[in-house]
Amino acid sequence: RFEGITMAPPDPILGVSEAFKADNHELKLNLGVGAYRTEELQPYVLNVVKKADKLLLEKGENREYLPIEGLAAFNKVTAQLLFGADKPVIKQQRVATVQGLSGTGSLRLAAALIERYFPGAKVLISSPTWGNHKNIFNDAGVPWSEYRYYDPKTVGLDFEGMIADIKAAPEGSFILLHGCAHNPTGIDPTPEQWEIIADVIQEKNHVPFFDIAYQGFASGSLDADAASVRMFVARGMEVIAAQSYSKNLGLYAERIGAINVVCSSPEAAARVKSQLKRIARPMYSNPPVHGARIVANIVGDSALFNEWNTEMEMMAGRIKNVRHKLFDSLSSKDKSGKDWSFVLKQIGMFSFTGLNKAQCDNMTNKWHVYMTKDGRISLAGLSLAKCEYLADAIIDSYHN
Ligand code: PMP
Repeated sequence: RFEGITMAPPDPILGVSEAFKADNHELKLNLGVGAYRTEELQPYVLNVVKKADKLLLEKGENREYLPIEGLAAFNKVTAQLLFGADKPVIKQQRVATVQGLSGTGSLRLAAALIERYFPGAKVLISSPTWGNHKNIFNDAGVPWSEYRYYDPKTVGLDFEGMIADIKAAPEGSFILLHGCAHNPTGIDPTPEQWEIIADVIQEKNHVPFFDIAYQGFASGSLDADAASVRMFVARGMEVIAAQSYSKNLGLYAERIGAINVVCSSPEAAARVKSQLKRIARPMYSNPPVHGARIVANIVGDSALFNEWNTEMEMMAGRIKNVRHKLFDSLSSKDKSGKDWSFVLKQIGMFSFTGLNKAQCDNMTNKWHVYMTKDGRISLAGLSLAKCEYLADAIIDSYHN
């Protein structure tokens, strides 16, 4: 029976961590998965999360099932954090919010909603994008195609290509956008470009579908990083937005996030929410409680909330420092005259090096630097002390 099942290939991102573990070289470096590390390259639990954990333990709350839609206190604050607590869309109760299994699970719920209520509608994803997007839409049975995003010539945004492809998509498509800190490229549209993207989406009656996995982590400010999403909502558009607390609160393993559907009326929001619950029930019944309580407690307490913001700035700042040091090391060591300034222009956790697959193989096989084969490196896994070594590896791989 099971003899006929073939071996699945390793996951292109999580498989990198498995390969890293198996390497015994002392200089090995894991820049694959996007997980924050300290300067000593150790995993980091935020102090504010430890405090919230302690409070939760003292409260000794029960472990009853959550409702299908998740913890009410969490759903309330997560929508406020994203859209802005004082914004009309919140006051008018036009958002259907359902707690999801972090960003991935929330995207999966939205994909199922699209498959069920908009059969045949296409999702447009950026080329390139986070590796799991294609899997999510494939498994949900939602057709997708790509829009141009990255321009290898400038190592920047192919804005004209992006606009042309969004314009050319069938009317009423879902346009997947990264709210901030685009993964894997680290290249975001400017505020002016976001306006033009919104114009085209509106013209074509498309639906903007945000994946925002790095709110607060790109710039260090929760509000600044939500500006793109808020601009679309302020135009009165219907919007989908999937959130994750893996990175900004370091709650990777808690699987805490949410799916939000901004509707034109509170009645429509109530109906959409009822259908999201109907999708969730047979998949996993109801979500886990612990991460939701942590988020609700931190956001609901002004001292903890301020502390969170300070820690987020610290994490975002450490990544920026590493980015600068890597740029300096590349520029001073490389004698070929190559312009490395793209490293500085990119934002967020990642740098997109432009290394091709063979060059990525050289990074791993010769230098023991583990990274995804699309040329992406996670700067969150890099320390100042390792920048020079990494620069040597990148320069060697580029010129070979
Ligand atoms: N979207 C993007 C763009 C991401 O980079 C990630 C995390 N790597 C996610 C979604 C989801 O991660 P999680 O399921 O841990 O929230």
